[in-house]
Amino acid sequence: MPDKYPSMTALYADPSNTEGTTYGKRWRRHEWIGLTEAQATDNPRAQKIVLAIHGGGIEGGTSEVALAVAGYHPATFAQATDGLGVHDLWIFEGLLSRDNGDLHVTSTNYDDPIALELVRNSRRCISLHGVSDSGTNGKIQIGGCDTEQEYRARGVDGSRDIRSSCRRSKTKWK
Ligand SMILES: [Zn+2]
Repeated sequence: MPDKYPSMTALYADPSNTEGTTYGKRWRRHEWIGLTEAQATDNPRAQKIVLAIHGGGIEGGTSEVALAVAGYHPATFAQATDGLGVHDLWIFEGLLSRDNGDLHVTSTNYDDPIALELVRNSRRCISLHGVSDSGTNGKIQIGGCDTEQEYRARGVDGSRDIRSSCRRSKTKWK
């Protein structure tokens, strides 16, 4: 099904969409990461960002997974104490009671200036999407351009448990 909006700019321009009512945006930058806080300027080499660009009711569960991967408790937002630190974060959430798919803007058309700026300042990006179990056999789909990170995430050189629950995505998820 084609997107209702050709871009995030078009979505924001529609007066029927209201931030805090029909959609929400949440983001965190690295200012509270001690390692980079001491640096005067952005350091793209050090930054990682986790994105749920179709969060809330658009692709259910991706907001919560993004928070957890970025190092926050999905309910309390408390920072993880696992010593792995926290990462930059972008979440766009559909808050409608139904038809949140109307707020789905395909990645390649995703022109939110804050999200783009966060990604520009990041060395690595993890973008989370929701897929249905049909056609994926309930397995996590992992793909993208960053093959080094993809191999690590799929546990190719590590955990058999992770390997068995993931497979390389044949589709470019958007
Ligand atoms: Zn998506």
